Amino acid sequence: MSNQAANEHGRLVLIVDDDSTTRIIMREVLETEGFRVEEAADGVLALQAFHHCKPDAVLLDIEMPRKDGLAVCAEIRGGDDGIHVPIIMTTGVEDVSAIHRAYEVGATDFIMKPISWAVLAHRLRYILRASDAIAEQRKAALMISGLGKVIENSSNEIYILENESFKFQDVNQSARNNVGYAVEEFADLTIHDLLHGISPIEFVQHLEPLLSGACNEIYIEVDIKRKNGSRYPVEMRIHSFGYEDNVAIAVIAQDITDRKLTEKRMRHLAYFDGLTGLPNRRLFTEELELMIKVALRGSHQVAVLFIDLDNFKRINDTLGHTVGDLLLREVGARLVECVRTSDMVSPRRTPEKNITVSRLGGDEFTVVLNHIYHTDEAILVAERILAALGKPMMLNGHELIVTPSIGISVAPLDSDSFELLLKHADTAMYQAKNAGRNNYQFYDRSMDRSSLERLTLENDLHKAIEAYQFELHYQPLVDLASGATLDLEVLVRWRHPTRGLIFPDKFIELAEEMGTIVQVGEIVLRAACRQFRAWQLAGMKVQRVSVNISSLQFRQPNFAAMVIGILAEAGLQPDALVLELTEGVLLADVEQNIEILRKLKASGIAIAVDDFGTGYSSLSYLKRFPVDILKIDRSFIGDVTDNHDSAGIVTAIVALARSLNLQIVAEGIETAEQLRFLCDLGVDVGQGYLMSKPLPAAELASAVQSGSLSVHILPPVTQANKNISGS
Ligand code: C2E
Ligand code: MG
Ligand code: MG
Repeated sequence: MSNQAANEHGRLVLIVDDDSTTRIIMREVLETEGFRVEEAADGVLALQAFHHCKPDAVLLDIEMPRKDGLAVCAEIRGGDDGIHVPIIMTTGVEDVSAIHRAYEVGATDFIMKPISWAVLAHRLRYILRASDAIAEQRKAALMISGLGKVIENSSNEIYILENESFKFQDVNQSARNNVGYAVEEFADLTIHDLLHGISPIEFVQHLEPLLSGACNEIYIEVDIKRKNGSRYPVEMRIHSFGYEDNVAIAVIAQDITDRKLTEKRMRHLAYFDGLTGLPNRRLFTEELELMIKVALRGSHQVAVLFIDLDNFKRINDTLGHTVGDLLLREVGARLVECVRTSDMVSPRRTPEKNITVSRLGGDEFTVVLNHIYHTDEAILVAERILAALGKPMMLNGHELIVTPSIGISVAPLDSDSFELLLKHADTAMYQAKNAGRNNYQFYDRSMDRSSLERLTLENDLHKAIEAYQFELHYQPLVDLASGATLDLEVLVRWRHPTRGLIFPDKFIELAEEMGTIVQVGEIVLRAACRQFRAWQLAGMKVQRVSVNISSLQFRQPNFAAMVIGILAEAGLQPDALVLELTEGVLLADVEQNIEILRKLKASGIAIAVDDFGTGYSSLSYLKRFPVDILKIDRSFIGDVTDNHDSAGIVTAIVALARSLNLQIVAEGIETAEQLRFLCDLGVDVGQGYLMSKPLPAAELASAVQSGSLSVHILPPVTQANKNISGS
């Protein structure tokens, strides 16, 4: 076997010849050169052998019995597996027409007889190699045409660009369809004509690492501009590749409109408040952090106005979440309107000098003034906010006024950390609440103590419940005609281990916010019922004990059962108990409340509407509620003798209560003049410092016993209060 023979090892040659000598010599020669050999003695056998052994080449004699070589060749070529097999015809006749016909039926080559045995193997080898090369090419061409189809039909847009000019060499169907240019129009364009938002220089800069060979792929997100001018976002992957001695650039672009929309929606969800559409806490803090950084580099300031609505919880609890939500939206809108028109703050407001409104959650809003030079600017905005929110709102048929308490902190004066700045604004807001609400306060270091105090108070209140640190004081309700004590109102006080006696105005609201009012209320009710029962047994002649009920307590699902249970436990008759509820409590879930009130009333318990007149203005709803007593708020009584409005309101309330057959109690009577006025008006019952302050149980008992709570009614109407009562 020669050197080359090894290369041909295993190649199978089918020898077809009717002359057995020729076949024997051929086999001998070819096998020596490393080929494998099969033989056939005529055309019919040749075809059988071909299909059976699938040779790599056929040596085919033309002149044969039964079926000649030309027919065999034609049939092989006609079959699927014979199209590309090299067929070398052998013939003894130098017949040009036979040679012609042989090529016509698909012969690959020709060897004339007598065969030169020395060159047969070389010749065969050469033909096989040529055939192999053609097969390779065919395979490549097939692949290329397949790839071409894939590229042309790809749903991605594919652009092939010339290297430096960025002109289009080729674009696929998806690109043509999406961009809207015809193939020939692309010829006059470069990729720059399609790009939006990235200049040619920027684009080339982006491609630099690719063109310098530093990387294989560049990835960019950019907008493509259609022929009709519209745009859409794409993600582009860009490669460079060798192309006929040149470098070309392939750009594969994928439309990412949907992804961008989803991203936008997600961003909106993540950064904006669903209820008001305002930026939420996350966006607020991210932006504030950035603004402070910028302010630190410049010489300007950033102010944070922390806005908390006064009594929002009460509105939410009493009028329900629907009204609460409407209110928050309205507040958001008013705040935005406020800062939108605040050009007055700084006439030359540029985008970087913007004012942003955010909702942090609940009833907490912030307004950030970026880029101010003087805190006066914050004052102006705070005052505008107070004015804007102070105007009444009509929501679901309710006229509401909601006032804000505003705390202001300024960076970098108060802090250059956004967390601390917000905390300081929050602290200042609490200070504004303490200062009577509906005002603004700038942060001051001394305030840190009071917010700390609130926190301590919260902790202490939990302990107070466990350790039962409450004391009940009792204030008499006196019959104005006879001076006799009819009822006693129970008022809770907290005996704090270190701070001494704390009054309800310092902790009831906190307890409501914390939810602990439910426990506190139950403690008070139980203790009051027990005490009252003890007094009854001791012979004290007082009709009823009156207990304040907070809204959260009233809304407990088992409220009525709880009250009736406590009465039974104390052995007290239900008609010895009055429950005081504010107007607001009644107005939430009207139907359900009426149901609960009926249940309580049916058992004999009386219901009083406390602080009447401060709430929701509509008097007509009272008719619907099964209530017994109306307690006129002490703010009206306080100036009833020197304020026409108050006198008018009190007169109207008394008339209304009388028409509804309700008992009237005037709260907070401090002067004899007030008492006189109320007596003239025909008010039944009075309560106030004039008669008695709330007293601890022991003191109250002895005061009642000694009859020292007498009422001193002034002599008949003076000219001055006659005028008032007549108006
Ligand atoms: P309220 O139910 O309207 O109670 C009357 C308040 O007016 C009491 O204040 C009482 O001390 C005060 N007062 C009575 N007469 C006069 C007067 O002539 N002049 C002035 N200026 N004030 C007078 P107090 O005890 O500080 O209670 C304040 C509020 O705290 C109560 O108002 C009530 O809403 C609430 N509260 C008190 N105890 C409880 C309780 O056990 N549970 C609940 N939920 N709230 C309570
Ligand atoms: Mg009360
Ligand atoms: Mg009251």
